[in-house]
Amino acid sequence: MSDLPQLSVDDPFMQAAYDQSVKSYHEGGIPIGAVIVHRGEIIGRGHNSRVQRGNPLLHGEMAAYENAGRLSPAVYRECTLYTTHAPCSMCTGTTLLYKLPKVVIGDSVGASGITNYLGSGKSIAGFLRSVGLEVVVYDDPAPKLLLDRFAAEKPDVWAEDIGDDGDLVGPHISRIT
Ligand SMILES: [Zn+2]
Repeated sequence: MSDLPQLSVDDPFMQAAYDQSVKSYHEGGIPIGAVIVHRGEIIGRGHNSRVQRGNPLLHGEMAAYENAGRLSPAVYRECTLYTTHAPCSMCTGTTLLYKLPKVVIGDSVGASGITNYLGSGKSIAGFLRSVGLEVVVYDDPAPKLLLDRFAAEKPDVWAEDIGDDGDLVGPHISRIT
């Protein structure tokens, strides 16, 4: 339907997360998507909605948590978060708060680009592993390509999303997601 990058990895849950990011892109929003999976079923899905809903808290992962609604601690502890990009501090914090045991990341750049996440000396994926989570990083190029395209088209919107004052816009634009 378009010339947008296509996901290479064969994982229906990551595809669902990526579909959310494409949906956001077509809405003029930041192309980051996420789904929450419980016992093989998607129970929450969302995409970054800062632009669409004017809410600074609605990163893709947070939108998926919101969409899943209130869940019991027992359910969270059986869930996996699929996200097109390595989660930021806010989304990581929520994931740790609810004690999800597993995170699957589509992109590699966000995970590998930060080497000292929260002063841990680790990447985001490494940090999550160090606190006991199982982390899968697919290293698929499509999420980065789509976000780079958005960031090139709307650098100010992207900088706002990551709390950046402009210094990171350029070669590093995809390194914090
Ligand atoms: Zn986030």
